Amino acid sequence: MSVIVAKFGGSSLSDAEQFLKVRKILLQNQDRKFVVPSAPGKRNSGDVKVTDLLYECHRLAAANKDINAPFAKVTERCQLIAANLSLDVGLDEKLSEIKRRIIEEKSAAYAASRGEYLCGLLLAKLLGWDFIDPAGLILFDHNGILDAEATQIACSHELMKHERAVIPGFYGSTFDGEIRTFSRGGSDVTGAVVARAADADLYENWTDVSGFLTADPRIVKNPKRIEQITYKELRELSYMGASVLHEDAIFPVRKAGIPINIRNTNEPGHPGTIIIPQAKGEPAAGITGIAGHKGFAVVAIEKAMMNAELGFGRRVLQAAEECGVSFEHLPTGIDTMCVVMPQEALRQVRERFIQRIIELTEPDSIEIHDEMALIATVGRGMVRQRGIASRLFNALFNAGVNIRMIDQGSSEMNIIIGVSNHEFETAVLAIYNTFIDESATPAHE
Ligand code: ASP
Repeated sequence: MSVIVAKFGGSSLSDAEQFLKVRKILLQNQDRKFVVPSAPGKRNSGDVKVTDLLYECHRLAAANKDINAPFAKVTERCQLIAANLSLDVGLDEKLSEIKRRIIEEKSAAYAASRGEYLCGLLLAKLLGWDFIDPAGLILFDHNGILDAEATQIACSHELMKHERAVIPGFYGSTFDGEIRTFSRGGSDVTGAVVARAADADLYENWTDVSGFLTADPRIVKNPKRIEQITYKELRELSYMGASVLHEDAIFPVRKAGIPINIRNTNEPGHPGTIIIPQAKGEPAAGITGIAGHKGFAVVAIEKAMMNAELGFGRRVLQAAEECGVSFEHLPTGIDTMCVVMPQEALRQVRERFIQRIIELTEPDSIEIHDEMALIATVGRGMVRQRGIASRLFNALFNAGVNIRMIDQGSSEMNIIIGVSNHEFETAVLAIYNTFIDESATPAHE
């Protein structure tokens, strides 16, 4: 028998009706043994997530203000679910203790974590499964960094004692029991950590989309879904802005070789996207997906004979390090070196950065080109297929897009191009039309 760990996001648990969908999904497959819930999310676009209400309670408590208004909303959300499903988990006492501690302890992490805690209690009751509190099992150091190995030992030991259980997402504690959370969206990370600890065969991540899309639906109308993607490809795509999964959620399961299946609670029959360690076969189109975003700047440094000057690159990067900005790409020519970085980060240190480059490298010229967008075309098949780059550049040429930078990662499954911000959408659609679906149209015509 195999083991599946299923994580459900906030929109999958936003009200009683969603709770019932979750139960149905869990009971459909006996292998689904451990479930990691988020806190109830938005029921409609005008609604507020329970986690946001709790952060608001904390903000008010920290300012010694009354928390009654947001806390009443948290109470109402939980009571509504409990009442509609006839669940008795002693909510009233739990809520009054939580309220008292939010006011007294003034800990943001404690306040925020209570959404997952209460949701987990309700779900465990609905399923008749054990409830495991992650405090003391998901372990953080005092800087709020997950201690992966201590967590693995504590969690795996605990999970062995339960046949089926609910483990709330998003939080854990320090070694001395103080509540800590991951960053926002962190229940994905809990799910991954639990999957590793349970030595699961599969980590299901249930959300409100049926997997990853091959391109941003705000740019391309009805883009196709990605059926299968490797961890590496996903890293490349999510780094460039495609986000469904918290990025720290990949490492624990990747390490253990556990596949992740992104599924939709509202469309449970859809197979979603499966993220696997190694691909079986190549994607038909030669590429897996396209992602990118606007707002980069290129600092182009020119100096004759730069290529022969020992330590030139190091000095440029030293300037960046001293100014506290990290770079995204470093395309170089014989006498030029370009540093590509987010425009916003550069804006804050622009003068100092330029000054340091001048002092450290004595260049012939420095130019800054703002308003650039980067687009990553990702596909594990690229390495073994001829002509991908030429098709890509042709597509952009035919669409009248001027390419300002080209960078092919050494992994050879990613070609990154830089274009002007205003040509970003045209470029993404042109690449999509060439590799994935030639009849696709822009999202907004
Ligand atoms: N409830 C938390 C948040 O809203 C964590 C999560 O949903 O994964 O960020």
